[in-house]
Amino acid sequence: MPRIRKSVVILAQVLVLCSLEMPRAAGKSNGSQKWIQAEELRSWLQYFASDELEGRAVFSEGLGLAAAYIASQLRSFGVQPGGDNGSYFQRVRVLGVKSTNHSTVTVEANGRTRTFKDGDGLRLPANVGGKRTLTSDAVEFLGYGLDAPLISHDDYAGRDVKGKVAVWLGQSGPKGLDARYRRLLGGRARYAIDVKGAVASIGSPGGFGRGGRPQSGEAEGGAAAAPNAPAAVAPPQPGQAQPGQAQPGQGQFGGFGGPPIERADFTTAQRLDAPIPPAFTGLDAFFEFLFAGQEVTYAELKEKAAKQEPLPRFTLRNVKITFNVDADYRVVRTQLTRNVVGVVPGRDGMLRDTYVAFGAHYDHVGYSEGEIVETPNGPRRAEPRGRVKEGALEDRIWNGADDDGSGSMTILGVAKAFAMGPRPRRSLVFVWHTGEERGLWGSRFFADYPSVPLEKTVAQINMDMVGRNRDDRQEEADTVYLVGSDRISTELHNITIDSNAALQKPLRLDFEMNDPTDVEGIYYRSDHYSYAAKGVPIVFLTTGLHGDYHVNTDSAEKINYEKMARIAQFTYEIGFRLASLDHAPARDNRGPRAGKGSTGKLTTQ
Ligand SMILES: [Zn+2]
Repeated sequence: MPRIRKSVVILAQVLVLCSLEMPRAAGKSNGSQKWIQAEELRSWLQYFASDELEGRAVFSEGLGLAAAYIASQLRSFGVQPGGDNGSYFQRVRVLGVKSTNHSTVTVEANGRTRTFKDGDGLRLPANVGGKRTLTSDAVEFLGYGLDAPLISHDDYAGRDVKGKVAVWLGQSGPKGLDARYRRLLGGRARYAIDVKGAVASIGSPGGFGRGGRPQSGEAEGGAAAAPNAPAAVAPPQPGQAQPGQAQPGQGQFGGFGGPPIERADFTTAQRLDAPIPPAFTGLDAFFEFLFAGQEVTYAELKEKAAKQEPLPRFTLRNVKITFNVDADYRVVRTQLTRNVVGVVPGRDGMLRDTYVAFGAHYDHVGYSEGEIVETPNGPRRAEPRGRVKEGALEDRIWNGADDDGSGSMTILGVAKAFAMGPRPRRSLVFVWHTGEERGLWGSRFFADYPSVPLEKTVAQINMDMVGRNRDDRQEEADTVYLVGSDRISTELHNITIDSNAALQKPLRLDFEMNDPTDVEGIYYRSDHYSYAAKGVPIVFLTTGLHGDYHVNTDSAEKINYEKMARIAQFTYEIGFRLASLDHAPARDNRGPRAGKGSTGKLTTQ
């Protein structure tokens, strides 16, 4: 106890120095080795990723067992319940929704006014969020609307779209783009709004073979059309009835006299009344009207875009756009699942009602109901849940040991250390999210219906796949990839760097996946994004993808438990420091700066 108190004093001194921006050492580690051990993580994950848990698909018995396991562990450590009604479980409602979209866009251009609606000059997503009106006379045409540093193409160079309406054309983007840019092209609306601060966006249809209709979201954050965009129905999950789709046997139960459930237009775990920045698709009639009166005609721009030739960029003159967002939603289906939530209260009476949040997703893709069948290409598993490894055809369960059994058990270790060790000033909240694989359901729900106040959550530390090496590269045994730490709070980024340096055996931090040139959009693809979209500073940890990602051979014996334990100790250290600060890490919203080759701290100036 006295030794611990001393280390807290030293930490406080270090933090004072930090805030003065003076040269300093990384400080002394808060030492969690005593509570976080590789062998224990191994024993937990061996159960968590066992066939008994059936691949932990959302709405399955296996996921229920996984939730019960986490809860019983939390209870044994003395972690308090943080869910509904004094339990460890937070009910998550996944809604199938019918949408009647009356939204319109009125354009005043070239002295004329015209109103467009869905199917008449525009295509609108089924979910446009809550009702609102938005008018702007600041409209920027951004050419292809693409920032692609790898081919030295930046349509935003020298242009400011903050608070404006961003407009772009071109289904395939400029010459030189390859398939790697599919996500970037599909994510242009989100980029304009989320990264560049536009209030709305209008683009032309399509992009690398996607249907013209903008998606309102995609599992693992794929090509969402807008920030906060609720998940659309996830990519078809083989062997599983989609919401709104008749299920086998339903007719039999229809015998109770009830009508069938209607087919939903979209599926979401988020509030339906929250505003979503308009991210609409314009058709020819719309763009012709919009560009009338400008120096260049839409016909010219369209032709250039079709040939992938360079497009001009300019501010539209004498144009005003009014978005009247107005859709009626009707819930036709409710599916129930749960997040698991635990809390370790802080020791400081003043700061105890503020939180550092930790997250991982405890669901995975499940198991295949289909049998092995003969095909012209040899025997195959009918309707597999992911890829099937050669030689592992008999294995019908996708165990998800790394994805995200590793993150789930890592934050369980962190929770144990906080429950059993010294208490920092703030409280700690641990959330095991459900349904990440289906579209970040659990975290999107939690961010809309938090069980501790989100505005008092100073940071969120999330992890997904932290138990192996990227592509199984031996030389990455010490490597962990960090994403997002610098985007909202430079101070959080610097605390993260210092936390690592203070460890007995620091990890090698790699920021490649946070690079501004990153084409994979990792920042948008796991649960941390649900918190970041609400302004909460986040740091995301991953050891990267490998050949067993979403393959039926992502199993527990392939995990490097020493590495996992070190990542847990690193996470504990970041969390302890954040929870000991007298202030919340400053939210300076400077965007991604740490990238490939970055190692050190960033200046806050
Ligand atoms: Zn995952």
